[in-house]
Amino acid sequence: MSHLGPHSDSSSADGARSRAASQEEAAPNPRGRTDLPPVPVAVSPTEKFREFLITRGQRLTPERRITVEEVFADHEHFDVETLAERLAAKSDGRRVSRSSVYRHVAAMEEAGLIRKIARQDDRDLYEHSYGYPHHDHLICRETGELIEFRSPELDAILERVAAEHGFRVEGHRLEVYGLSREARKPRPRRHSKLDRV
Ligand SMILES: [Zn+2]
Repeated sequence: MSHLGPHSDSSSADGARSRAASQEEAAPNPRGRTDLPPVPVAVSPTEKFREFLITRGQRLTPERRITVEEVFADHEHFDVETLAERLAAKSDGRRVSRSSVYRHVAAMEEAGLIRKIARQDDRDLYEHSYGYPHHDHLICRETGELIEFRSPELDAILERVAAEHGFRVEGHRLEVYGLSREARKPRPRRHSKLDRV
């Protein structure tokens, strides 16, 4: 799939990088970066979750509400373990047990609010699918950096391939693995005793 190489997508990747760089201090975790503008939604994620729960005969309990609000408080990529740690550590009556967080996150995924994007350090990474445009990821295997991109050319290729197979596309997930520009930079040599000899 040479179409997905750094050349065809360099413009948006560069844009993403400079924006990401300016956010560096706010978001030190490289995999937390999100680069695309959100899409407006009529119904809040919490309401959307409530509607989904009703279809299963369940209620939006305070715990479920706290979990969905915490997840949608910002647009970062997240892993459930970190989220669970954060919610289990809350003291202001907003504490949610770890096992509950895992259950609520699974329900939110089923509801189409979030989606799994990658596995990193033995943890599943999630991101918002509700209120965020569809996109794909370039994933650096060295630094864990996630670069988000959208490619109409890629969508067109997939549509064409699907049409050849009489297949109707409902969605796709693409993760491209490799080394980011950052990871490929030559590292400054450390001064060792040998250098001074
Ligand atoms: Zn993403």
